[in-house]
Amino acid sequence: MKALIIGGGIAGPSAAMALRQAGIDVTVYEAHAGGADNAGVFITLGSNGIDALRSIGADALAVAAGFPTPGIDMVSTTGKALGQVRTSRPEGDITSRTLKRADLYRALRDEAQRRGIDIQHDKRLVDVEDAADGIRAIFADGTEVHGDLLIGCDGLHSTVRKLIDPAAPAPAYSGLIGLGGYTRGVPVNTEVGSYQMVFGKRAFFGYALAPNGEVWWFANLPRPNEPARGEVEGISSEQWRSRLTELFADDAGPAVELIRASKEILPASPVHAMVGVPAWHRGRTIIIGDAAHAPSPTSGQGASLSIEDAVELAKALRDLPTIESAFTAYEALRRPRVERIVRQAARINNNKAAGPVGRVFRDLMMPMILPRLANGEQTRQTYGYHIDWNAPTAA
Ligand SMILES: Cc1cc2nc3c(=O)[nH]c(=O)nc-3n(C[C@H](O)[C@H](O)[C@H](O)COP(=O)(O)OP(=O)(O)OC[C@H]3O[C@@H](n4cnc5c(N)ncnc54)[C@H](O)[C@@H]3O)c2cc1C
Repeated sequence: MKALIIGGGIAGPSAAMALRQAGIDVTVYEAHAGGADNAGVFITLGSNGIDALRSIGADALAVAAGFPTPGIDMVSTTGKALGQVRTSRPEGDITSRTLKRADLYRALRDEAQRRGIDIQHDKRLVDVEDAADGIRAIFADGTEVHGDLLIGCDGLHSTVRKLIDPAAPAPAYSGLIGLGGYTRGVPVNTEVGSYQMVFGKRAFFGYALAPNGEVWWFANLPRPNEPARGEVEGISSEQWRSRLTELFADDAGPAVELIRASKEILPASPVHAMVGVPAWHRGRTIIIGDAAHAPSPTSGQGASLSIEDAVELAKALRDLPTIESAFTAYEALRRPRVERIVRQAARINNNKAAGPVGRVFRDLMMPMILPRLANGEQTRQTYGYHIDWNAPTAA
């Protein structure tokens, strides 16, 4: 069997390695000449994502690229502790890691190429033709390739999603603008690795101290109406610096010092999520990762879920007799889990954008509800997810 994988971000190389391990021939086609857009951000690779990579022996480079992130301390605008969230699986045997998204892309691509997987760049998929004897992928440069199935790992603004279902919903704007940066020379009162997150008066701020002394930070700013394409991306570092220092002026914590000391502020972007895509597959084509279900960055789970998808899909294709039965079993297994996580992140986003009354309510309630939500069953289900590569996928 020959699989055509569209997209060389996180889901793509992960799927390529997992399918190869399942005995399926693969090639990855990536639109960009090098990596992907907006790769300057940092992300957390959850213990579940690391576990999924481990099931295909591909965790070492990704783990080495990041630093351990055992948990998050939530703080109110006045500096009151709202609660702690554990962001690793309760057994404590795998700790989540924070790393630059570009480094995760590189780690996965390098590992895939080390295994002899062909990753072709400058290959932007524009169309597919599904026939009884196989699938044809057509690229913007006029070339075509044939295979038995096609896996769309082409991210939030997926072309494959629209080819499966032209009426598929577009990503939903979350009401937040995200941006961030890397700072040196500002002392912060936190343990290396752990995140501090401040539900500020006007915006949300998070930061973590890296082992090399850098502080990695991000901010989420409420903005009810979706900005026009390119609008926030075009705002300069200097303009952001003065806007952000005003927004965080009244909040406890080092936000203002960190923002002032950052040489560069990474390009801002509107935060989107993708939930409830009705059709994940049609014929010989399927979407996985952000193309099928993108949680907002608040979840800290988009990359990990994409890797889990890749491994579970490979197992289904290995174990079930037809492509159709594998796709159906895969979707039944994945949809409840990923959609629960996407919806949970959307609820947290509402708290990040709370108004004055909502803020008071949030700061009163959070210390009570957070321990139950964050450290109980939900954490176990999210971060403790384990894939047994040898266990057969049920039809
Ligand atoms: C600011 C920010 C913070 C985040 N923080 C976290 C976090 O802490 N933890 C976490 O787990 N996740 C986080 N995420 C989400 C995470 O980055 C995504 O969930 C993850 O990258 C999804 O992987 P993917 O492979 O599905 O898509 P992508 O990584 O977007 O990769 C898609 C690839 O497909 C390529 N492509 C697109 N169209 C085509 C085409 N037509 N033909 C060929 N190739 C194509 C793209 O160039 C790209 O390389 C964050 C995202 C952002 C923006």
